[in-house]
Amino acid sequence: MPELPEVEVTRLGLLDALSGATIHGLVMGKALRWPLGCDPLQFVGWRILTVQRRGKYLWMPMRALVERAQGDGGLLWHLGMSGSLRWGTALGELGRHDHVQMQTDRGELRLTDPRRFGAVVWSPSLEAAPATTLLNHLGVEPLSTDFKPEVLFKGLAGRRISIKQALLAGHVVVGVGNIYCSEALFLARIAPQRPASSLTHAECARLVEAIQATLTAALAAGGSTLRDFQSAHGVNGNYQGLAHVYGRAGQACRVCTEVIEKEVQGQRATYFCRRCQSA
Ligand SMILES: [Zn+2]
Repeated sequence: MPELPEVEVTRLGLLDALSGATIHGLVMGKALRWPLGCDPLQFVGWRILTVQRRGKYLWMPMRALVERAQGDGGLLWHLGMSGSLRWGTALGELGRHDHVQMQTDRGELRLTDPRRFGAVVWSPSLEAAPATTLLNHLGVEPLSTDFKPEVLFKGLAGRRISIKQALLAGHVVVGVGNIYCSEALFLARIAPQRPASSLTHAECARLVEAIQATLTAALAAGGSTLRDFQSAHGVNGNYQGLAHVYGRAGQACRVCTEVIEKEVQGQRATYFCRRCQSA
């Protein structure tokens, strides 16, 4: 599943190409998780202003440039479980898993999504529905200065679920997916089974630092190496080879040599070192 670093890598890969590009056509294929919400022909002659990210959503604000079309708004893209975006000037014929194609004066953007949990949704702005419906429950951005220990501490207060599940839910902090959750808890030396509300302020401070370090390292490596993920230019990321615990069950901890364990929490695999994460 594309996680926040993969989406950010995708955004960075598309930013220069798409900022200022004029749309020549939008072709929608098989139904995705949510409908577009307007006529795709509406976008002919519209100019994309920039590419932004909120959580795991990409937001492309755009403006009509032609006389017959007026107004502004944008497209919200989500990669779902298996989606990837590709950009190029000659991508060739559409494959059976290519469900959205946007032609511009500079090249084509294509959404490939075998499982079709992704979506492209029109919204008049980020502050209006349907964007607000999709984005309002999202927690603070983990790489922003708003993500402070006290924000995490307050967000976890009263939560009886495990810290692993509280992070994954995304209501306190957004975009810390399964891989990065295991990794950050390891770096912060916190057991993933701990009740969320039991974390001390000092532990929250360690966890904020660990989440930011983990996501920053993943970004630098170009995202994780999941089989479904390709960045906007079709390059696989290299993060997973750097993982401390994720995907390493039965192998020795890189810090203490204890055997890394795997446990299922809320139907998702959690990897941890019992000795390093004894707190
Ligand atoms: Zn260890």
